[in-house]
Amino acid sequence: MRRYTALLLLLSLLFLCGCGQKKAAETVFAMDTVMELTVWGSDAGNHVKAAVERIRELEAALSVTRADSELARLNAGETVALSADTESLLERSLALREETGGAFDPMIYPLVKLWGFTTGEYRVPAETEIAEMLAKVRTGTVELEDGMAAAHGAELDFGAVAKGYAGAVLAREMKAAGVESALLQLGGNVQTVGLKPDSSRWRVGIRDPWGGEDSYLGVLEVGETAVVTSGGYQRYFEEAGTRYCHILDPATGYPASSGLASVTIVAEDGFLADGLSTALYVMGLDAAAEFWRSRDDFEAVLVTDNGRIYVTGGLRDCFACEEFQVIER
Ligand code: AMP
Ligand code: MG
Repeated sequence: MRRYTALLLLLSLLFLCGCGQKKAAETVFAMDTVMELTVWGSDAGNHVKAAVERIRELEAALSVTRADSELARLNAGETVALSADTESLLERSLALREETGGAFDPMIYPLVKLWGFTTGEYRVPAETEIAEMLAKVRTGTVELEDGMAAAHGAELDFGAVAKGYAGAVLAREMKAAGVESALLQLGGNVQTVGLKPDSSRWRVGIRDPWGGEDSYLGVLEVGETAVVTSGGYQRYFEEAGTRYCHILDPATGYPASSGLASVTIVAEDGFLADGLSTALYVMGLDAAAEFWRSRDDFEAVLVTDNGRIYVTGGLRDCFACEEFQVIER
């Protein structure tokens, strides 16, 4: 009997050593999406707990629908003393608007509301309404100085970047606290910290835009990075046989219909990955490929409406799927 107990003890020790480490995981609903946070290593539980608190803090500052959030107060016309997070998001969002030629536009909120994407009360607005809100998006301005911000005729929405920003913040803070391995799934956004506990790379599936929640078109093998997907299939409504998706084209005021079904961005920085997934979806395949050629800070997987898959050069050796074309520099 004693030998049996010793054997069991040895086996469980081997199991603990073999798996390497302890693991803690938590699922939370925040920023209008389901988030799954998994951390490996000693003190994993506390790291997950700290991450959940941090997400709640970001949500409280950035939600457009909570009347007391920094963003809602800014949209209501107040001059607001911004937290460091909101200031950084605003600054970077305004810069990304310029860099993407307006395909990503944080001032799109009047149009997002008009189409009902904030409340879920969807409707196709009249052309005159779209023209009116489009004028607001184009002429509104935001002033930012020394952490104080004021919007003039503009309303902001960080829906296209908040989750990516949150992933980047969590990854940075976890690393500073000594975490070596974590997987943060924030809705359609994935942020990894380090490598998997067994030191292999992470495998991140690219959703099939026409399949169910568990069907994938391909798999990316990545190290520490952000992987963010924007797709018309993620949120949309249908009216009179037409599908209207939640990503709007700031050039027209209508849902983007650029011939792309989804865009996945792989980038070191989560904010950039998230902002660009939205922007490149608006741009369409050719403009997206040109934009990629002009930069060196991200890679992309683009799926067209007719099911073709295009992958930028840097991903050719870490993407696996039945058939795809490589976009060259
Ligand atoms: P994502 O899923 O990251 O592509 O973000 C889409 C969300 O960002 C939408 O639900 C809107 O709240 C907002 N949005 C829609 N179109 C744009 C756009 N062209 N630029 C910036 N934000 C947008
Ligand atoms: Mg985005």
